Amino acid sequence: MRSASLWRALLGVEKAVIEGVDFDGQAVVVRVRARRGGRRRCGVCGRAAPRYDQGRGRRRWRGLDLGSVEVFIEADVPRVDCPVHGPTVSQVPWARHGAGHTRGFDDQVAWLATKCSKTAVTELMRVSWRTVGNIIARVCADIDARVDRLSGLRRIGIDEISYRKGQKFLTVIVDHDTSRLVWARPGRDAKTLDQFFDQLGEDRAAQLTHVSADTANWITQTVTVRAPQAIITADPFHVIAWATQCLDDVRRQVWNQARKAPGGQTLAGSRVGLRYNLSKGDAQKIQRSRYALWKNPEDLTVNQRAKLDWIAATSPVLHRAYLLKEGLRWVFKVKGAEGKQALDQWLVWAQRCRIDTFIELGQKIRRHLPAIHAALDEQLSNAIVESVNTKIRLITRVAFGFHGPEPLIALAMLSLGGPKPSLPGRTSTHT
Ligand SMILES: [Zn+2]
Repeated sequence: MRSASLWRALLGVEKAVIEGVDFDGQAVVVRVRARRGGRRRCGVCGRAAPRYDQGRGRRRWRGLDLGSVEVFIEADVPRVDCPVHGPTVSQVPWARHGAGHTRGFDDQVAWLATKCSKTAVTELMRVSWRTVGNIIARVCADIDARVDRLSGLRRIGIDEISYRKGQKFLTVIVDHDTSRLVWARPGRDAKTLDQFFDQLGEDRAAQLTHVSADTANWITQTVTVRAPQAIITADPFHVIAWATQCLDDVRRQVWNQARKAPGGQTLAGSRVGLRYNLSKGDAQKIQRSRYALWKNPEDLTVNQRAKLDWIAATSPVLHRAYLLKEGLRWVFKVKGAEGKQALDQWLVWAQRCRIDTFIELGQKIRRHLPAIHAALDEQLSNAIVESVNTKIRLITRVAFGFHGPEPLIALAMLSLGGPKPSLPGRTSTHT
């Protein structure tokens, strides 16, 4: 009896009866059965249900290693006739429904996946990365069933994140007040966002005070309908990213012109309506100036600063585009009334800059002026959305090799969503 209770504690199968333990030199196989007299429950919903049949007979689950020896748990699991789910494999206390691993094993893998590298998890636990993906999806679903991630939301950020080489997108929602990721689903359209508001419900949607987003129409329109009282603000990092994109367009055009020019010959004018003087040998220099142009002036190295000086002397247009990008960054740095005033001046400047792409940017900013003004007034922490965004991007790379978007979302939720997976046998950290 004493050894039976030790085995139950070692394996985390307190509610089961140990029938026997075998060791074949490779692995420990522990045969268990459910206690007699206990009510059978549906594996999906946990409702008590009458026995249906024998099911598929003997089943096996991988448990946590004992020392360096692999462990398997074996048991017969009958099916029950659930009033909701029909004939279903009955619940077992040591594993999640449909799992080939015990709860303890699942929990440890999930904990490791949020802390360690892919190789560390797969080698230590002797499972494939795809299996890790399935496990964390199960663990995350388990936490989702217990924790309401959408309670108490007031100020949220909505963003879209690409995964799989830009072909597929996730819509993600971040809580500005707790800096947690609270919701993520595949897709980037009004239909996807409607799912969020359906889950949130009308009462809680009415509690939202601010929604920050990248000014995509589908977001603005959906928020206007589902949470009309919320102030919509533009995410500054998206607005600055527009300017960086424009700057890159100009850089590429100037570079192309310089590249195509006959050796040493200078050109005047271009299809973007610019004036500059560049020789062919300058093409490479422009290409290499990319990072100097993108970086914030305070972060420039001496070498990059010299490149900018060279651009100022050689290509006034590219330099003007650089100053326009920096000007817009300044608007969001000073914020408030001063920021709005700076933005007014910037818009006049953009209108007259004679660089098509920046003229268009000025018009785009005018179209989104209410949301941008709200961003300057409200001063929602842009850093939070941007930092969660950056972390999810890293996770999308780690999650490559998972099957479908669910494990990716699960890994993001377990890492950034607040409630963390807990190690088996420790006090739960779910709050
Ligand atoms: Zn059921």
